[in-house]
Amino acid sequence: CFILLERHGNREILLKRRAEILHALCSSGSGEHLEGVVDMLLAQGELGWEDYQNVLVPGRALYSNARQLLDLVYTKGADSCGLFFSAVKQYVQQRQESGSSLEQKKQVLTKELPVQIMTHSYQQYKTYWGLLCLTFCLLYPSFPLEFVKYQKKLRISVSAQSRFLSTYGGTSHMPLDDIYTEVQLELPNNSAEIYKSMGFEDIVGPVGTVNEDADTVLVSGEAGSGKSTWLQKLHLLWAQGSTLQDFLLLFPFSCRRLNSEHKDLSVQELLFQHCCWPDREQEEIFQFILDHPHLVLFTFDGLDELKQSFVDEHRICCPNQRAPVHVLLFNLIQGSLMKGVRKVVTSRPEAVAPALKKHLHKEVHLKGFSPSGIDCFVRKHHSDPNEAAMVLESLQANTALLGLCHSPVLCWIVSQCHKELLGCGEGSPQTVTDVYLMILQHFFQRHSTFKLSIGVSWLQQNLGTVLHLGQLAFEGISNFSYIFSVADLEIYGVTESDICMGFLIQSKNMSPAHSKYYEFLHVTMQCFFAAIYVILSSNTGRSAIPKLFELQDMKKNSAGCACFGACLHSSNTQKILEEHSTTAETPNLQITATFVSGLLSQRYQKLWLHCSSSVLVGKKARQAARCLSKGMQQHFRSIPQPVQGEKKSMHAMPEFVWLIKCIYEMQESRIAKDAMSKLEVDHLKLTYCNIGPVECTALAYVLKHLKYPVGLQLDNNSVGDVGVEQLLPCMQICNSL
Ligand code: ADP
Repeated sequence: CFILLERHGNREILLKRRAEILHALCSSGSGEHLEGVVDMLLAQGELGWEDYQNVLVPGRALYSNARQLLDLVYTKGADSCGLFFSAVKQYVQQRQESGSSLEQKKQVLTKELPVQIMTHSYQQYKTYWGLLCLTFCLLYPSFPLEFVKYQKKLRISVSAQSRFLSTYGGTSHMPLDDIYTEVQLELPNNSAEIYKSMGFEDIVGPVGTVNEDADTVLVSGEAGSGKSTWLQKLHLLWAQGSTLQDFLLLFPFSCRRLNSEHKDLSVQELLFQHCCWPDREQEEIFQFILDHPHLVLFTFDGLDELKQSFVDEHRICCPNQRAPVHVLLFNLIQGSLMKGVRKVVTSRPEAVAPALKKHLHKEVHLKGFSPSGIDCFVRKHHSDPNEAAMVLESLQANTALLGLCHSPVLCWIVSQCHKELLGCGEGSPQTVTDVYLMILQHFFQRHSTFKLSIGVSWLQQNLGTVLHLGQLAFEGISNFSYIFSVADLEIYGVTESDICMGFLIQSKNMSPAHSKYYEFLHVTMQCFFAAIYVILSSNTGRSAIPKLFELQDMKKNSAGCACFGACLHSSNTQKILEEHSTTAETPNLQITATFVSGLLSQRYQKLWLHCSSSVLVGKKARQAARCLSKGMQQHFRSIPQPVQGEKKSMHAMPEFVWLIKCIYEMQESRIAKDAMSKLEVDHLKLTYCNIGPVECTALAYVLKHLKYPVGLQLDNNSVGDVGVEQLLPCMQICNSL
């Protein structure tokens, strides 16, 4: 065993074969082997006295001491790993000479193994390890059996959780396998060829690795780009035995659900209580996990939804130590806990704290559907091929809408609302707000048992439901709450018939098992309802709209979100202030503000008639327009004066793109013109701004009002062919692209 290790001796083998090495060092139950190896390393000068004392801590478990040694050697680098293996070999030779019983046992084992072990091919090397593991299983028969049972139970539970897509919960039970459509995954700064073929195995494989020592892979993407669904598919494929089979155990977590865990937990409790409870031998199974980190995969969906943003402060190294769940999570991600276990985390890009970046093994961007993905999804969604063809035709006729459909959540809405879409002819949706209003109307009409009275709008007819859900959504966004108990629903007057409309779905896997919890179909739907509430609510203070748009300032102020809640008289302000000493950045407020812009558009003024005071809505619309213009001016003022002889250049920040999108949602050229009137630059740099086709539509809409020609730089985004087409309206003002 050790001769072979030496031959392949590097850090990877130390990590991958950690369990076997630990067994070899500790399975006799006596510390003599470990001490022997440490003595060798000490004699060679590879370990100092301080290291020696850190490793051989009297009274600490033997396995923990051995683990400490492996961690130390691993951290020191490849050379130390090599020296470690030769120390082990030297020790083994000495023991052989003195005829120790353990070595006799090992010799017997080795003799029984096939002769191929001495050859070098990787497959045979794997076979060798397989045989060795098997031999260990025969030697220690009690726990692997329990382990196998546990693994089976976990697979069944993961499969049950991931088989159906929840957005279809209200309408039909849609098996994920039937509707899942490939999404685009992209490595930052990498060529297009690689990401097109990036499968689930590649996510944990070597491609795109930036930090060998880190265990965490981040999959980032905008809200609705398909992160949760992609992860759900990964879970399902693993449970079905089709992918990532090198991982014997997969523990899936949802950060949204972890928010509801208020007790301090140890890693063991976190795994077993939140994922799957072992019926027997909990300690042994957990020990197996500790000993075989390379066989285990953790996934954390929606890091952006965790109430606390990532910090690298409170370190925990002991898997038995209890701590608040977010502290455990941060330690798992950065590797102080469960080093060697691969972790896959999804998040929105805006919410990825800079401190997290250095702990990433790699980062992958999820970019939603490709043009052929849209086609494929629509065909899967509609069992009638004629219907699918008609939807696709109407998308081709409206490229702005086609651009929106790169986002899977919007593609889903458009497909759900195909009847409305096909019936609306010229007036088909252009903006995200249009699309969400379409699904709102669609859901209400689906449940309406009586015809609308003459002169009463659909919104008026359903005003009660909209207000209840709106307030629930709004309070949730202000409090970082995405899951609601029955008691929460009661507070905001949400009734059984409101629930039946289908905007809320029952949360899966929430403990305690018998009480019901709800969440919005999708977080963007929650933002949309919150935006409607901002417009309809008469108890909004004067500062609600400015607060919503002044996100820049709010980010600097850790209590910003709470202030937003406060200006709508949120009852929980004090509690929020106490809980969120480190407030997570809040892309949800940006999405809400984008919807507010769209809903306050001149085009929708009629919608609010008889639902709210027109004077008040008009006032809010003017406020929003002023905020957008002010936000733009602030951006422009920050442009440094050009060095003499050089062109004046502006490097836009992501907030600039967000402001542009808000202006586009309003669909009022007056505002776009006003915003662009004061911009005088020769060069507009929009690199790394997460620009896709949707952003291109908005950019063209606003930039075409520029007074002077500009050079537009869009490298390192995902513009694509559809995006380029969207940019055409502003081509006459671009002197280079
Ligand atoms: P995110 O987690 O990025 O916010 P979701 O995964 O929740 O996005 O996607 C939102 C909705 O879009 C899903 O509920 C589903 O209806 C649809 N969707 C997303 N990805 C896919 C996919 N790969 N195949 C089919 N539908 C998808």
